[in-house]
Amino acid sequence: MKRPWYTWTVVCLVCALMAWTCITYFYHLVVPLYLEGELISALATLLALLTAIVAISYSYNLCIKTDPGNIPSSWALKEGHTSNNISSESLNRRHQRQFIETDRNGAVRICRKCRVYKPDRSHHCSKCNKCVLKMDHHCIWFNNCIGFHNYKYFMIFLLYTLVSLTVYLLTIGRRALDAFLTKPTDPKFNAFGVNLFVNYLFMMMIELGVLIFLLYHIKLILFGTTTLESLEKSDKLNMQYDGNPYDLGYYGNWIAVFGKKSSYWFLPVSSVIGDGTHFHTLNE
Ligand SMILES: [Zn+2]
Ligand SMILES: [Zn+2]
Repeated sequence: MKRPWYTWTVVCLVCALMAWTCITYFYHLVVPLYLEGELISALATLLALLTAIVAISYSYNLCIKTDPGNIPSSWALKEGHTSNNISSESLNRRHQRQFIETDRNGAVRICRKCRVYKPDRSHHCSKCNKCVLKMDHHCIWFNNCIGFHNYKYFMIFLLYTLVSLTVYLLTIGRRALDAFLTKPTDPKFNAFGVNLFVNYLFMMMIELGVLIFLLYHIKLILFGTTTLESLEKSDKLNMQYDGNPYDLGYYGNWIAVFGKKSSYWFLPVSSVIGDGTHFHTLNE
């Protein structure tokens, strides 16, 4: 579904912030190092800047463009079917699998807006106006839902941003401090210095936010859960499961999101296991 133009405002703001920081880094570190005759340092910082631009913009674009997970057409609600007249047993037989989540009455979960049976862990997003497989949350920073197919990209984006901002804060820190300590009466005081100091403060706050967010999601992954699942009550789960049925242990939970190939874990390539409609449990 095409999203209205105004929902892209935050994405434009993020792009503007990235551009501002890249220009600040270039003019306040790369250029001065070159002018000071530190050619190797200037080249190294330029390389770090270009790497960060490619890594962050590529993973950001993946989060925005990747469909988080549409419900397959085979899950469309048949004519006349409601959750009351189709048992979870018959749906289990039809899809040859055991469903874990039911509604409060123990019936199959359906979405009346999308006219589909809802696979386990899927939810309807009111912003995207569709059901999303293994929905984690709707994110205004990407103007997209974070779900089964783009959750790993989301984590990679947070990781790349954290690493890039750490390099930024460490390498330009001394110059930002000099700019801060320059008094308005000093002849060296100018708008460029103020720009550096303000940008540095901004990036410090963003670094802290990204770090907290990344740690929170690492915890969710290790416990085999999602943002929505950690917030909602578990009364829609079958009573046969005690606790979180999707918890496969730290390693099992990790590879369910990042895949078995460790060389792919930190690369912006899809390596998630499964199709998003069925999830392994320890009982299987
Ligand atoms: Zn729906
Ligand atoms: Zn959404």
